[in-house]
Parts: sequence; C-alpha cells; structure tokens
Amino acid sequence: MFLLDFGDFGAAFGNLRLYFRAGSPIRAAGRKIGDILTSTQIDKSPAMSAQQQTADTLIHPGWIAPVVPHGAVLENHSIAITGNRISALLPRAEAGAIRAQRVLELPGHALMPGLVNSHGHAAMSLLRGFADDLALMPWLEQHIWPLEAAHVSADFVRDGVELAIAEMIRCGTTTFSDMYFFPDAAAATAERLGMRCQLTFPVLDFPTTWAQNADEYISKGLALRDVVKHSELVTVGFGPHAPYTVSEPNLVKVATLAAELDIAIQIHLHETRGEVLQAVEQNGERPLDTLHRLGLIGPRTQCVHMTDLGDQDIALLAATGAHVVHCPQSNMKLASGACPVARLQAKGVNVALGTDSAASNNDLNLFGEMQTAALLAKLHSGDAAALPAADALAMATINGARALGLEAIIGSLEIGKQADLIAVDLSQPETQPLYNPLSQLVYSANGSQVTHSWINGRPVLHERQLTGIDLPELAARTRAWQQRISNTRT
Ligand SMILES: [Zn+2]
Repeated sequence: MFLLDFGDFGAAFGNLRLYFRAGSPIRAAGRKIGDILTSTQIDKSPAMSAQQQTADTLIHPGWIAPVVPHGAVLENHSIAITGNRISALLPRAEAGAIRAQRVLELPGHALMPGLVNSHGHAAMSLLRGFADDLALMPWLEQHIWPLEAAHVSADFVRDGVELAIAEMIRCGTTTFSDMYFFPDAAAATAERLGMRCQLTFPVLDFPTTWAQNADEYISKGLALRDVVKHSELVTVGFGPHAPYTVSEPNLVKVATLAAELDIAIQIHLHETRGEVLQAVEQNGERPLDTLHRLGLIGPRTQCVHMTDLGDQDIALLAATGAHVVHCPQSNMKLASGACPVARLQAKGVNVALGTDSAASNNDLNLFGEMQTAALLAKLHSGDAAALPAADALAMATINGARALGLEAIIGSLEIGKQADLIAVDLSQPETQPLYNPLSQLVYSANGSQVTHSWINGRPVLHERQLTGIDLPELAARTRAWQQRISNTRT
C-alpha cells in the first residue's frame, strides 16, 4: 500500500492524504494523482467553505472515505450538512469558520457514503430462516410461493419492510431497492421512516394476493409512480420477476412503457445455469438474448444475479450499458453460481451489490456482502488482486447509485449531493490496529460498528440508536407474524 501525504501540497488541501494500493484502478487507468485532485470536489471544497458560514450539522470524523475520487481517504477533514445536502467538505483547520447548530466529534470513526442495497425483497425479512438449505426452484415452489399466497398482504409488507429498514439502517444501508407485492405499503413505510428506496413493482403472468394478471400489476405499479412522483426518497420502476415467470408479450409491454416513461427495469436474470440451459432448450436462445430481442436491455436495466455469463453476454451488457446487481451471499446459499465480477469490470460493465431477501441470505448486512463479494471474486477468478477493497466499497455505494439512476444525488460524499452518510467506529478491537481505513471497512468491519447514519440530511441512527423506530414494539409485531406463519407450517 502506498501512503501519499499531501500535507505540503498547498494550504488549500490541508492534511489531505490518499491511500491506495498498487494495481488499483487509479494506477491501472494511468491517471496521475494531480488528475484526481483537480477533477473532484476536493479542490472545490475550500472555495465552497469560504461561502458556507452556517450549517445544521458539522461532523469531525477521524477519516472520510468519500468513494469519489476512487480509493481516497481524507484525514483531518470535516463535513457539513445543511438541509438535506452536503454543504461543505473541507480541512478541519478551516471548519472553524462554519457555525453549526450541532457539532459531532467522531474520533476513530470513518465517515463514508451510506450503502446502497441494490436488490432485495424487504418484506421477506418476516420469512428469515423459514426454509434453508434448498436450491432455488424447490425453495421457491415448495416453500416461499405457497407461504406468500397464504400471508402476504399490505400489513405483512408494512411490518416486514419496517423490520428490514431497522436492520438495514443499523448496518449502514441508506438506500435499498425492493421488488415485492404491495409496493404502496412499502412506499408509505419508507417515507414514514425516512428511508430512501427504489421500488420495482412486480410483474408476473400469474395471480397473487396483489394483482390478478400482468396488466393489473402494471396499472397498479404505475398508479404508485404517480403517487410518489414528488417524493424526495422514493422512486418507482418495473420489476418483471424473471424471463421464466413473465411471457414475451408482457415483457414487451414492460420494455415499451419503461422506454416511454424513462424509468428503470429490474429483473432476475441468469440466476442459475439451469435457468439458462432450460431457456436454450425451450426457445433456442439465452435469456439475455431474449430480453435484448424484446427491447428490454439498456442503460435503465438492472440485471440481478448474472451467474452464468459467456463472453458474448458480457459484450452485450457492455454495449447496451445495462447494469449488473451482484448478490454473492444469496447465490452461494442457494448454490446458484458466482457472478464473474472481475470479467464484467474488465469490460466496463457497472456492477452493484445487493443482499437479495433475508430468506435467502439470511441478513441484510451490506458490510458482510462487501466482504463476501471481495473474497468470492478472488476465489472465482483465481486472482487475489480481483476486487480490491476500494472497488468493493465503490460497488456498495456509487455503483449502486449508478445502477439505480441516482448517481447525481447519492453514492459518494461530494458537495451538493444529498446527505446520505454513515459513521463507522474503527476504534474497536475488530478493526485495530489501523493501517488502512479502506481495508478495515471492507475486510474487517461489521455492520454493528455503524454508529450514526443520516438520510437526506436527517439523522436516522444516533450512537447506535434508531431515531424513528420503536424496536420493542416492532419486535412484538414480528413475533405475531412468526406465530401466524409457524401455524401455517404445521
Ligand atoms: Zn431476488
């Protein structure tokens, strides 16, 4: 690891330090450090700070990992929040000019962007541990789908989403993507709790408790989009479940409407080799090729899982600008396969990170997912240099924001972006001694070391305490669902 000290770089940069590893994308791309400094917010922060004299909150952490520029770590820097935005990021020595209503001293903590969980089914947190140690199709067909038919309702979604949000905030997630029934209940819950989310409403050929057919799924989903169109926190996209559960005519409807309305599509795709082989047998083409033929693959498309990919698939993803959402723990637990992250990144495909549901993971801890993604990439590629810490951190933050179409407002700590950020206590034994903050964040830290979290400028976690969720009351509701669901099984 190199440690470059820019303390003498000029007064404007204070004690800026950049940590990065040999062979990181910064070096691989042939860029010089000077390029990094002049192309980001860091060189703008002193100027901004001079204009910025007041703030709601001023935070003095031990380190800042802004994610942009890639691999950077700032020491002796501060961040100010004004309203829902990051209003200053500047050397601590200059932060004295800012008068803030609240000042937080967080020595030993790293401040970083809130994590973006780019794929999940939040309400399924109520099914955590219900059926384990099964392959995807028997798990879905014999356990999950019958249970959902018996229990899923607006109340189930409200309580399941609240349980998921409580867990996600305590583990550092500030934005999640969801694909589940009753997304209107999920939207109301996320708004009430101040959580940012992308809700991709399900589209299926068969009836469920939420809708009877594809047209009803689509009309209900688009009605929700109208309801939340002015929301600062909630966006809505299409969530056709998978090529094997949605017919070609309905997939064409989704593609046409998504293009007309310019909204996202998220779909489970190439989750297992079996799915791909069966499609080739039945249709004579791979599922990705089918979706491309139907007009579904493009820069607003988020392809979830993607474990079975040939070179031609990767070339198609790169050419169309589609995004991949990698869910390593779910893929490992269901023995689905491994997404070839290193090969995708080598071709310039944006890869984001998701937990999938708590029923196939079995947690929503994106810190664990980051570590798993980094380790699996090395094992799967046979290259220990695959997915270094800075890349894993980007995958869980800015890449997720990019996949969800939110990179202009979240995913990195930059002046003007919305204030979605977390503080991680690195002074605990689990993360000591500390040679490299990025290494500790990815390879050693646990979600339980997240002490503070802000979403859209609002504090949602303070000294490990959730500010907007009554945990004992939520636990009582969760136990009531457990009782009901347990009775179904017997
Ligand atoms: Zn899923």
